Amino acid sequence: MIPYRIVRWINEVYPVTVFLLYLGLFLLTFAVCFLIPVVGILTLLFSIFALIPAVGLWQVLQASERWLARGLIRGRVCPGCGQSLSDDASAASDCLACGAAYETNGARVVA
Ligand SMILES: [Zn+2]
Repeated sequence: MIPYRIVRWINEVYPVTVFLLYLGLFLLTFAVCFLIPVVGILTLLFSIFALIPAVGLWQVLQASERWLARGLIRGRVCPGCGQSLSDDASAASDCLACGAAYETNGARVVA
């Protein structure tokens, strides 16, 4: 359950972190682009091509979160709180303790 929580926390902060990095890069570029104009062009090229690994890493993180959640759900343990899930087949992935719901692929259902 701990690896799931770590990966889930990383998934929650990753998009904001990447956005803030890009915002910082913008501010840095704006500050120096009048003194060194080539920095603006290089930063533009870097930022465009850095989106590919950034999005790829985010998809890997999301897939690993779903994979960890599937393993916990298979063991009838709620990935969110660690309580045992009900054995009712109709509410197969709903936790009665914390109210979290999970799809069959392990994705958390946002209410
Ligand atoms: Zn729960």
